[in-house]
Amino acid sequence: MIEDYTQNPLLANIRIVLIGTSHPGNIGSVARAMKNMGLSQLVLVKPRCDFPSQEASTRASSAADILNNAQVAENLPEAIKGTGLVVGASARLRKVSWPQLDVRETADLALKTAETTEVALVFGREDSGLSNEEMDLCHYLAHIPTNPTYSSLNLGAAVQVFAYECLMATQIESVHRKGYRHKLATTEQLEGFYDHLYQALQDIEFLDPAKNARFMRRMRRLFNRSQLDVKEIDILRGILTAAQRKAIGSQGDERV
Ligand code: SAH
Repeated sequence: MIEDYTQNPLLANIRIVLIGTSHPGNIGSVARAMKNMGLSQLVLVKPRCDFPSQEASTRASSAADILNNAQVAENLPEAIKGTGLVVGASARLRKVSWPQLDVRETADLALKTAETTEVALVFGREDSGLSNEEMDLCHYLAHIPTNPTYSSLNLGAAVQVFAYECLMATQIESVHRKGYRHKLATTEQLEGFYDHLYQALQDIEFLDPAKNARFMRRMRRLFNRSQLDVKEIDILRGILTAAQRKAIGSQGDERV
């Protein structure tokens, strides 16, 4: 069964709140961005467009379920009810008053908080962002670092970046170790490989014994960097054995 990250209890505790959205297409792309990254709780505060809407559903693509389950609230206090951490996303860095985080710090804090309490990430209007009264209800303001001369992302794109960072901040193993099918080689297995390599390089008359210490250190650096797994060690040692067999065989030929 493929793992569905929306079932992850931490991600399920993070809600996305959109205030006064005017374009239904943005609501749809927010739903899609959320579901791609495993978020599922969407709350709309007084949308300034029709909702539900065909355009939102089209843009949501296969994230229609997020739209169907979306809550509509009259105001921000209603939308953040029950949450213990409220972070307002802002395209502009404000000079005073509100403690600020960047998007990555926000995700770390959100995930930590979500272990015990619900979290709200609040996004403003396309034209005017969040009002000061709305920011007063936020514990932090959060910013996505951008080109300073153009800092305002499309709403769907801004939610995408926050949702992505939340997923990255999870400890869900498959997010971080995708494709790792074999156990990493142990230090003993690596040492066995280095001994074999050293022997084989002499057998094929590649290694100059006078320079071997520096050369082998380089080889260790190269292979250690690539975090060899058990299967890869097997393959490499197979290659070495084949080369040794060939070299020893041809020496035998010369002797004839
Ligand atoms: N013109 C508005 C920006 C609206 S963009 C303004 O200047 O405030 C719509 C919403 O997307 C913003 O309210 C904010 O919640 C989010 N957003 C856009 N760019 C962002 C950024 N660089 N960092 C954090 N949030 C951002």
